[in-house]
Amino acid sequence: MRLGRVASPDGVAFVSIEGDGSDAIAKEIAEHPFGSPTFTGRSWPLADVRLLAPILASKVIAIGKNYAAHAKEMGGEAPVDPVIFLKPNTSIVGPGAPIILPPSASQVDYEGELAVVIGRPCKDVSAAKAAEVILGYTCANDVTARDQQRHDGQWTRAKGYDTFCPLGPWIETSLDPSDLEITTTVDGAEKQRSRTSLFLHDIPKIIEWISSVMTLLPGDVILTGTPEGVGPLQAGENVSVTIEGIGTLTNPVATKR
Ligand code: MG
Repeated sequence: MRLGRVASPDGVAFVSIEGDGSDAIAKEIAEHPFGSPTFTGRSWPLADVRLLAPILASKVIAIGKNYAAHAKEMGGEAPVDPVIFLKPNTSIVGPGAPIILPPSASQVDYEGELAVVIGRPCKDVSAAKAAEVILGYTCANDVTARDQQRHDGQWTRAKGYDTFCPLGPWIETSLDPSDLEITTTVDGAEKQRSRTSLFLHDIPKIIEWISSVMTLLPGDVILTGTPEGVGPLQAGENVSVTIEGIGTLTNPVATKR
C-alpha cells in the first residue's frame, strides 16, 4: 500500500494512493494510517490534491556515516557502532515544498536517504523483531548546512533548520528495503547513486540500536544515512531523491524571502 497525506478542497487527510500516473486516486483514510486503516469512502484524483509530508513524526532520528564511501568522503573512518542524531519534526516538509537556504549558512548540501517510518510504539526491539514495528519506507533528504556542521562540532543547528527534512512522496508499506537503488539528482544531473545493500548497519540493527535508547512512536522517522556524492545546493535548483520501489521526492531550493 502507498500511504500519503494530502491537502484537498475538503481539508487535510491521510490517504491510500492507488493506481499510477494520471489515473492515480487518493482514497481518504479515517483518522490515521496505523494498524489496519479504515476508509471514509471519499476519494480524489491524485492530480486534484496536493501531497504533503506523508507522516507526522514526534521525532526524526538519523544515522551518520552508514555508507563506507560517504564516511571516506567526509574524511573519517566509518564508526563501529551506529552514530545517531536528531532532527526536529519542524524540519519536515513534503514533496514540492521549498528547501529554504538560511542566510547564515554558506554551504547547504543535499543528502539523499531511505527513510523508515515506525508503525507502533516500541522500546528495546530486537533486530529479529524490527520488521514488526515498521509501517513502511519513503524518500528523504537530510539537508545539511555543511559549514555549520563543521563549525559547531555537533549537528543540531546544521541539520535542524525548518525545511531541512523533505519526506515523500508517500510511504510504501510493501517493500523489501535490503537492496534498493537510491539516486539523487540536481536539476536532472546525477549526484548520488548507490544501493541500500551497502549500508554498514542494516535496518534491523539500526532499530535495535535506536530503540535501546529511546521509545519510538508511530510516525517517527529514521533516516538511514546518505551514500557518497553529497554536494551543495543553490537557490533556483530542484533536487530529487529517487528510491527503487518507492518513487521520487523533488523539492525546489529557495532563499528566505
Ligand atoms: Mg544524513
